[in-house]
Amino acid sequence: MNKPEISIIIPTYCEEGNIIPLHSKLIFELTQLKISDFEIIYVNDGSRDKSLDKIKELVTQDSRVKYIHFSRNFGHQNALRAGLDFATGNAVISMDADLQHPPELIATLINHWRADYKIVFTKRKDTKDLTFFKKLTSKLFYKLVNYLSETKLEEGTADFRLLDRSVVEALKKYKENNLFYRGIVPSLGFKQIGVEYVPNERFSGETKYTFSKMVRFALTGITSSSAKPLYFSIYLGAFLALCSFFYGLYAIYISIFTSNAITGWTSIIASILFIGGIQLIMLGVVGIYLGKLFSESKNRPHYIVEETNIN
Ligand code: UDP
Ligand code: MG
Repeated sequence: MNKPEISIIIPTYCEEGNIIPLHSKLIFELTQLKISDFEIIYVNDGSRDKSLDKIKELVTQDSRVKYIHFSRNFGHQNALRAGLDFATGNAVISMDADLQHPPELIATLINHWRADYKIVFTKRKDTKDLTFFKKLTSKLFYKLVNYLSETKLEEGTADFRLLDRSVVEALKKYKENNLFYRGIVPSLGFKQIGVEYVPNERFSGETKYTFSKMVRFALTGITSSSAKPLYFSIYLGAFLALCSFFYGLYAIYISIFTSNAITGWTSIIASILFIGGIQLIMLGVVGIYLGKLFSESKNRPHYIVEETNIN
């Protein structure tokens, strides 16, 4: 099998209304660029709607369309991983299926790649169209990840980027579970450049990132690239110990030099609850890391392919 110049990988989860419009836009862009040597890989992440049928419709029309169908939903990042594993192009572009990542930008990505950049990442420019909630949570997400982890994450970067073959091969060596591409890719090195874009509105359907998925994603982002939260627990513990030491001095002072002793019931209960709460949080932090070790040690597959036309 000869290797195409460009691979486009598209994680797809319940996007039945988006696949055909996205595909025709992609074909239009690639034709404009006079690129006929490409493959488009749809990674169907266990959609329960008609996404797979739509993809198969495209497959019958064009042999350059590939699909990977998961046995169930394995999540966006694992769908990306499968795309990278199966893609054979000299450059691999990943983008969302909902047309929020404008296909018109592909020309710019490819031009930078031809100018010898190995990683071309994109930065989302905020628009009025984004909901206030999305803007706020996204801001908080990047602030928190940058504060708590060692790798610097650029605000507004998403999984819309072009990677050179050499980068893809490097990335494939990262075997860990719950790989967090946004954090890993910038840390790889290579010659990188960023491109700004204005996101479109989601063409059809609703966001697949529910609030709980976003919280989980943020926790993955923080704990996958750093052990800082564990240090944080030591600082907090030391701070609380110091507070209680001074409080003890104060209590001794009261009982010796004043007649107001034994009024401390409320403050005792308050501090017990406070310290208990902090301990539970920190135990949770340790638990997250332990859970990660546990799941890594099982070495389970990142995804299960039920059906594909890639051999
Ligand atoms: N997606 C996926 N698996 C999931 C959730 C999402 O493959 O479990 C895909 C989805 O089909 C889309 C992309 O990941 O192509 C981004 O998801 P979405 O647009 O819902 O996220 P948002 O843009 O709202 O952050
Ligand atoms: Mg989207």
